[in-house]
Amino acid sequence: MQNPVLVYRGDALASYGFGDPHPFGLDRHGVFQDELAAAGLDGGIDYAEPGHASVDDLLFFHTAEYIDKVSRMSSEGKGYLDEGDTPAIAGIFEAASDVVGTTMAAADAIMEGRAKRAFVPIAGLHHAGRGNAAGFCVFNDCAVTAEYLRKKHGVRRIAYVDIDAHHGDGMFYGFEDDKDLIFADLHEDGRFLYPGTGAADETGTGEARGTKLNIPMAPGAGDNDFHMAWQRVEAYVDQAEPEFILLQAGADSLEGDPITHLCYSEQAHADAAAALCKLADKHCAGRIIGTGGGGYNRRNLARAWTRVVQSFVEAG
Ligand SMILES: [Zn+2]
Repeated sequence: MQNPVLVYRGDALASYGFGDPHPFGLDRHGVFQDELAAAGLDGGIDYAEPGHASVDDLLFFHTAEYIDKVSRMSSEGKGYLDEGDTPAIAGIFEAASDVVGTTMAAADAIMEGRAKRAFVPIAGLHHAGRGNAAGFCVFNDCAVTAEYLRKKHGVRRIAYVDIDAHHGDGMFYGFEDDKDLIFADLHEDGRFLYPGTGAADETGTGEARGTKLNIPMAPGAGDNDFHMAWQRVEAYVDQAEPEFILLQAGADSLEGDPITHLCYSEQAHADAAAALCKLADKHCAGRIIGTGGGGYNRRNLARAWTRVVQSFVEAG
């Protein structure tokens, strides 16, 4: 196949997680890779090894104080990095840096012409802010990669599209006043689900007003609701004419997730990925990175992420 999709896999990526009984366990990587391997997409996929982000890389988005805090607490290996969702387990600094480095490596591969599209399953850690951990997310790989694309590769206008059940608050508030970070996020209404943000009237601030689209979805929303709302996302990204697309394909928006209340099927993820590939071909020379994001029902995450990769492969 002419344009194989790069899929990142390896122990470094698998090691980001918090162990049983935390929802973000260490088995998510393997469950997905097994499903993908069984999907018969081999000719359309090239596997790649995880990367590693240096402290200088993390500083593209995060504050020095916060990076120091994570490093110190990771060495001690006890307590929480936030109010109780994100444990400071031993080695989490290195694991979180590897997640960031892998999404950056995907950006390098695409910008250097080694691939058009890439998928990083354990990534899309969208709750991490510039100076804080939140919601199982230590470092924000999409945010660091967005800044990296600008500084290293001269890309300016980036679309970030998030279909995880939770609002991507780390991305939204991290770039709230940045007019060249186009943000579109379909998520369960914050009145019913963590983190509580992402109301429809949050559209960006200052000169970035209007560059952010938040669409809260009612608990119980299914595929029909998704597709109605998705039409707005597609039109929004299309008119913004981005140079690169980042997709956060959180699978916790599928029916049966243990910590959310949305009811999509994996078809939503397949269709979103296919539509974004078309927009990437139209505006971005095909460039798109998919990240796995959340998803705590193992069967759902395996199927939804595999369908994202399949859509990338079928888009050519
Ligand atoms: Zn989520």
